[in-house]
Amino acid sequence: MLPANVSKRVAVSLVVAVLCLPAAACFDRPAKPASKVLVLGLDAGTWDLLDGYIERGLLPNLARLRSEGASGALKSIRPSSSPVIWTTVATSKRPVDHGITFFVRYPDGPKGKPAPVTRTLRKTKAVWNILSDHEKDVAVVGWMITWPAEEVNGRLISDRAHYGQLDHESYPPGYLAELDPMPVARAIQALPEFMTINFDPAKVRAGSEDPEEQVNFLVSDRFIRAYRRDSFFLEAADRVLADGRLPDVAFVYLRGTDDVQHGFWKFMDPEPFEDGVPEQQQRDFGRVIERYWAWTDKAVGRILEHYDEDTLVLVISDHGAGPAVGKFLVETPSYLHLSGSHRQRGIVIAHGPGVRRGETIEESSVYDITPTILHYLGLPVADDMVGTVTTGLFEPSIGEREPARVATYETGGSVAEDIEDKEVDEKVLEHLRSLGYIGE
Ligand SMILES: [Zn+2]
Repeated sequence: MLPANVSKRVAVSLVVAVLCLPAAACFDRPAKPASKVLVLGLDAGTWDLLDGYIERGLLPNLARLRSEGASGALKSIRPSSSPVIWTTVATSKRPVDHGITFFVRYPDGPKGKPAPVTRTLRKTKAVWNILSDHEKDVAVVGWMITWPAEEVNGRLISDRAHYGQLDHESYPPGYLAELDPMPVARAIQALPEFMTINFDPAKVRAGSEDPEEQVNFLVSDRFIRAYRRDSFFLEAADRVLADGRLPDVAFVYLRGTDDVQHGFWKFMDPEPFEDGVPEQQQRDFGRVIERYWAWTDKAVGRILEHYDEDTLVLVISDHGAGPAVGKFLVETPSYLHLSGSHRQRGIVIAHGPGVRRGETIEESSVYDITPTILHYLGLPVADDMVGTVTTGLFEPSIGEREPARVATYETGGSVAEDIEDKEVDEKVLEHLRSLGYIGE
């Protein structure tokens, strides 16, 4: 005779089987949300480029996520400033409310020296704080304006960690401190994969009139920096995701696509540029952007290798991109060679359990990402969030379920201690200057 509990189980399954016989509905069960969520932030993604790259087979991972999932445009906000927007994505609050309103602040008054904005200026909770409060295990890797690293229920590698060996670079303190910045020589070795150049680090000179030095500066400023940073955070993500149990929700951000688009647009798309682009340069640098996207797609594939199908993957960008001409011209010193700028429409792709397959959604907004993540996980959306749940991404069992509500998550009221790191501040400012975001 079977033990009582087993026979009871058999009986229950028999009842279920009998009840299900007449209806196919039993096999068409409502989708259950995935147990893991992975949010991939890719800066300045635009369908204007990615559609073509996907058609040409250059982005197999993003192509699969899109064809098996739902996708569309993600509407951005002004100012079109990445630290402002990525913080908006993570909070669903207006910049004036979340506190990150520009790239820099002027601690000594408007005539004083600028200092880069840091996480301590953020006045509202990021989604990883809310998830931590709900005891979700989180991982945050490289997300903009996360230095100094704050305590989360999990791990956080701040956006300054790639500068190497600095205080507050990660949480728990010291986590992944052994991971060194990528040596410049390694990035130089990778150049032939992306462009034709006889790169000479001794010939990197800002503001030079010499064409060879100009090109060396462009490659150093717009490519090598981006490649080293993305490589660092990709390696960090790999280690975080391989370290024990996968986090419930992971956020990984790669910024290089924006740098490369700012620097190399005119070589790919010379037509809108009145001054013309030498043909040799079009040949040498015309494919840097598509090759960088192909490299980034491989990075996405490497991250996805850690996951199985029981995962909601969200791929998002903070804004789009296009040629820096006409009203999109960026006012910068000419030696910076900025030929790409931002556009209002970024991208969103969702893939995983409960996502509508092959669906193209109406425009969603950067404000909607945090509410959408919370709703997907069955957690309350706050009334003081600006965004709404992007229901169109999901099957009715998830998309149409009434979101749980809470008035606000802003209950703490504690003010973060301001922390500075003058040495790294200088490096961040140098990068902002090179992007033309702040003056000399
Ligand atoms: Zn951006």
